[in-house]
Parts: sequence; C-alpha cells; structure tokens
Amino acid sequence: MLEFFDTHAHLGEGVFEADRETVLERARAAGVINIAEIADAPAEWPGALALSRARPLQLRCALGLHPYYAREFSLALLDALAAKARLPEVAAVGEIGLDYVKTDAPKEIQVAAFRALLAGSLSWGKPAVIHCRGAYEDLRGVVGELCPHPPSEFRFWGVVHCFSGNADDALFLIQRGFALGVDGPVTYPKNDGLRAALREAGLERLVLETDSPYLPPQSSRGRRNEPAAIPEIAAKVAEVFGRSLEDVARETTANARALYRFPAAAPA
Ligand SMILES: [Zn+2]
Ligand SMILES: [Zn+2]
Repeated sequence: MLEFFDTHAHLGEGVFEADRETVLERARAAGVINIAEIADAPAEWPGALALSRARPLQLRCALGLHPYYAREFSLALLDALAAKARLPEVAAVGEIGLDYVKTDAPKEIQVAAFRALLAGSLSWGKPAVIHCRGAYEDLRGVVGELCPHPPSEFRFWGVVHCFSGNADDALFLIQRGFALGVDGPVTYPKNDGLRAALREAGLERLVLETDSPYLPPQSSRGRRNEPAAIPEIAAKVAEVFGRSLEDVARETTANARALYRFPAAAPA
C-alpha cells in the first residue's frame, strides 16, 4: 500500500463538523497516513491541538497567524505562540506569510508580522509553513535576510505551501532550504507554468498537500476538498516528472517527514 502525507489541511473548519471522522477514515483508506492540521489564528489553536492529541499517529498540527490576520500580530501573541510551539504535537509554525491578493492588510504590517513569526520559528526549532500569494518578491526579501543558507541539522527550514511562484522563485527558495507544497492547482489544465516551475525545483524538494477544504483537484473542482484527494495530486506529479506513482509517494512522504522532523521510523 502506498503511503502519503497531506502536509496541509484545515479539518477544523466548520464544513467538516458533521463528518470529520469519516473524512479521516477515507484519508487512511486512500493511503494518507499522516496529515498536518493547520491553524490560522489563535482562536483556532486549541481545536488543532485537540484534534492532533486525539489522533497522535495520524495528525500533527501547525499553529500560526495567517497574513489575513496580520493586524492582530503583537508581542503578546508571539509569546503565546512561543509557549505552544514547544509542545511535541506542534509540528510547525504556520501558516504565516504574505498575501497581497486576498487581504487589504497593509504590506508593511504583513511583512513585519511575517518577519517576526519566521524568526520565531527559527529560534523555537520548528519548521515554518509559509503562505504566499502575489508577494514572491517580498517573500524572497525576508527569506533571503533570515534564511540565507539551508539548515545543516535538518533538510528544510520550512515549506512554501501551495507554491504559485515561477521557476526563479522555486530555485531561490529551495537553495535556501525550503520545500515547496504542491496541491490541487497542479492538476488544472492551464497551469503549465506551475508544472514547469515544479519540474525545475525537482521531486526531492516537493511535498504534497490538499489545503482542504480549499483547492480541490480537477476531478472535484467546485466541491469541498479533503485529504483523500492526495493520490490524484500525486498522480499528476508523477506525470509531470515522468516517474511512477510509487516513486512520488515514497519521495514526497520522506520529504514531508523530514520537513516536519518526524522520527526516522514510520509510526506503527
Ligand atoms: Zn495558505
Ligand atoms: Zn491553508
């Protein structure tokens, strides 16, 4: 059985309230043995912690402050996150980042919050889950400043999830120790530019994600997305690289485990 890792999902969202257990079961049945549950704001942190505590073998969580909420950033929030980031079930800090498309939070406020949160993730020894939309130039500025070199102790400082940059952005980020998250949009017919950028980055730098309930792959566009969609994304990645589905499952799952710094042995 192939083993996949969904490195980015929001199962705490209300749309999963009625059938969350079934969704998790379908994920397991599809070979998605691990899922990272992402909490975007302090109000979501307790739910993500509870979800990962209830299923320690299947789920870990990431706690962060999405750029949508950049105005809520404060030193008190940073302190609260520092305390939580040390918990073992917290695999990462995120999502954090920059979004110049979907929010009117001023760029200077977003950059200041992102810089402080990325610096926090580095000092707390946890990888960062970075969101970036329409802001790759400023992302490269902050990453170039705080992460000029790849880490020596780990493979990745973090991941730029739902990667949507060009080939130059991809190379810049992987050369500084970041993985790139690949999700539903890689399956959309018109996204040849994205597929070319990912090919440039190489399979050894990619992790799979669904961003559930958002960004469903081609076969379920317009519907709620869920972690069981990972094999469809993996199949497209296999096609893009001319590799087998087995290779893609093995490599991306190993990358994801390295990203979230799981122990070497697979969970029982
Ligand atoms: Zn995001
Ligand atoms: Zn997300």
